[in-house]
Amino acid sequence: MHSPTELAEKFREKQLKLTPQRQLLFGLLHQNDSHPSAESLFEVASKQMPGISLRTVYQTLGELAEMGELQLVDVGTGAKRFDPNMTDHHHFVCESCGAVRDVEIAAKPKMRGGSGKFVISQVGVVFHGRCENCVPTAKRSPAQQAKK
Ligand SMILES: [Zn+2]
Ligand SMILES: [Zn+2]
Repeated sequence: MHSPTELAEKFREKQLKLTPQRQLLFGLLHQNDSHPSAESLFEVASKQMPGISLRTVYQTLGELAEMGELQLVDVGTGAKRFDPNMTDHHHFVCESCGAVRDVEIAAKPKMRGGSGKFVISQVGVVFHGRCENCVPTAKRSPAQQAKK
């Protein structure tokens, strides 16, 4: 996803409404690796700008997705999640707290048989397990314990 300033520029170019609400959402989404749902983003946004509507959040997310700034992620947790990380990557879902993290793809997937030529439009591997905050405490570093 582009920076909030660049996004503001793009919205102006496309003659889309550039309201303070939208700009707040750009800021909240930029480099956001928590894969928020529309509802959770709305919750955070409401704290900073009371009165923002869920509708505005949905609309802005939809526009950004259409512009290729966000991808929709379905990790089987019910609500659709939004991800400003447009690189190919997998996802990890914590079974305990529901956190969704990015998992880097180390090697290009290879197809068996056929010509081997294919274009990936979406990657859909989801790892399930426990995140660092939810694994038994024994393996935590002192730094992580201090954070809690
Ligand atoms: Zn967890
Ligand atoms: Zn992701």
